[in-house]
Amino acid sequence: MSTSLDSGPPPQAPVTALRQRLAELRGPSAAPHPLDARALAALAANPGCKRRALLDGAGVDKAALAQALGAPAAFGQSQFAFMRGNAFEARVKADGGTELLRLLGVADPQEAQVPDLAAAGPEGRAARTALALREATAAGGWTLLDHPMLALQVAGSPAYLEPDAVVVHPDGRWTVVEIKSFPMVDGSADAAKVGAAARQAAVYVLALERVAALTEGAEVGHSVLLVCPKDFSNLPAASVVDVRKQLSVTRRQLARLTRVEEIAAALPEGVSFDVESCSAAELTTSVEAVPSAYAPECLSACELAFHCRDRARAAGAVEALGRAVRGELGGLTAVGDVLSAARGESGDPADPAVTALRRAAALRADALSACQGAA
Ligand code: SF4
Repeated sequence: MSTSLDSGPPPQAPVTALRQRLAELRGPSAAPHPLDARALAALAANPGCKRRALLDGAGVDKAALAQALGAPAAFGQSQFAFMRGNAFEARVKADGGTELLRLLGVADPQEAQVPDLAAAGPEGRAARTALALREATAAGGWTLLDHPMLALQVAGSPAYLEPDAVVVHPDGRWTVVEIKSFPMVDGSADAAKVGAAARQAAVYVLALERVAALTEGAEVGHSVLLVCPKDFSNLPAASVVDVRKQLSVTRRQLARLTRVEEIAAALPEGVSFDVESCSAAELTTSVEAVPSAYAPECLSACELAFHCRDRARAAGAVEALGRAVRGELGGLTAVGDVLSAARGESGDPADPAVTALRRAAALRADALSACQGAA
């Protein structure tokens, strides 16, 4: 399987043809939905799902698609949480990032540079960010980059990522800063939320490493600074989070993603994800034309989870029961086959999964008859 991560840019003509094909799939009037680090972290968590890789690569708004399919997503940040997060971030970065730089141990935050990163479009902003990083590293002082733009090639498509901040140290180290609105109580925060933030930050580190490779004297820190409200107040507290593990997992998973053009090339004629012009039945047919890899983890990571779960259940796929169960069942891929094997009606008795199922069925029958005997 070919991969795209860390590979050089493909020739211009195939890129243009791919972009046209992806725009057709998305719909002529639909603006591409940008991939962010949160989506990439979720994409990397399920690299076997071609459906998600294609929809994200084509910039399809999966929330709108799920709505049109009649299975709207049930997760996402509330408007209130969004506004609270923005207000906290503005507070942390107020006055030229004085508070943020203090949390990093900068003795005199007023001396830090805060370059203007404004430019036209995401490509322009990514180029401006790369230049600012090179200049800051060469200058050798403290520099705060507020909302820099980073580019990363993912599954054949460019993704533009916007960390909350990146700080350049006088010794050439670059540190990713993640500002979150969940509280840090007595110095620790919800482990699941910290884990999600670490996976997201690892995507930024990965993108920064591509710029650092072209910058003399630069080194990207594998520890990120997580800033959260302290003890339910709006005062900031910081924690250094080591993301080396998340970085190696994300690097490996993104490298395994099938190229989007390979998935698009295998689609039958007439596939479209245009929610403006297609009926729910047409969209369902199109979505089902792309292979998926449903797992219960999708419920907290992908907007199409309810649709894919319904389909997996309807097909009797054991994937709907979770990856661990799927792994234990070996060659038994349908719930019907599993039940039949447990009843002794089918299955190879030499298969350890079949043996375990029959043993479990016998134990269950014994337990039920003991209960009935006691009653
Ligand atoms: S919900 Fe569906 S499309 Fe999304 S990652 Fe899971 S299987 Fe893939």
